Amino acid sequence: MGIRNEATVEEAVLKARRRRHRNTLLTEVEAELTKVEEKICKNSEDVCLWKYKSGFKEKFSTRETWELLREEHTHCSWGRGIWFAQATPKFAFLTWLAMLNRLATMDRIEKWSQGVDVTCVLCKSAGESRNHLFFECSYTSQLWEHLVKGILGRDFTTDWSEVVVLLSRVDNDKKRSFCTRYAFQAIVHTVWMERNKIRHGEKPLPLEVMKKRIDKGVRNKLSIMRLKGGKGMENALQYWFSTRV
Ligand SMILES: [Zn+2]
Repeated sequence: MGIRNEATVEEAVLKARRRRHRNTLLTEVEAELTKVEEKICKNSEDVCLWKYKSGFKEKFSTRETWELLREEHTHCSWGRGIWFAQATPKFAFLTWLAMLNRLATMDRIEKWSQGVDVTCVLCKSAGESRNHLFFECSYTSQLWEHLVKGILGRDFTTDWSEVVVLLSRVDNDKKRSFCTRYAFQAIVHTVWMERNKIRHGEKPLPLEVMKKRIDKGVRNKLSIMRLKGGKGMENALQYWFSTRV
């Protein structure tokens, strides 16, 4: 075709001489080059364009680019209950594992290591599973009740799937929503750490100490957020105090 291997599209279009070919593929290439040539605006400068879902635009958008790069999956209904602004990352991560039922609870360990003692180390009266720990267990249900009963009122439940629904709903009361979600994650994290310590031979902490410890953690968080928690969170600490039962 008279086009060098290293030729740019511009060179191929503007410099190569058109001729007839017997080979249909070469004829098609010629036809494409003609199409491109017709589109060229000879009197204007080249500009960089960014691809959008709706076509090409001059302005760059991280959102549009990300939308084109990412693989789309079905929407996770409980995501907003776990990943929210001002969450404590280690709490959110552990809660995410619990949501996926990936914590090494004894019901799961038993599947690959038979003969282990599956009894819950906190109440010592039932088998340990994710749903038992959060919050069928007589020990952890008291923690959960102590911290959020005043917020949830009649919606209060110890059933895992019902709790997940509560955490995932859209709540226009930012303080209520944050306090519930944050307290939940603080309990999940603290209970899991405590459970691990007891499994490794340490003495269990009295329930009252656990209650105070988590409550203090939440209060500290809300106190810090008074300064940088954003709109709707100015009186979050007062709200927390008003919901203590
Ligand atoms: Zn238990």
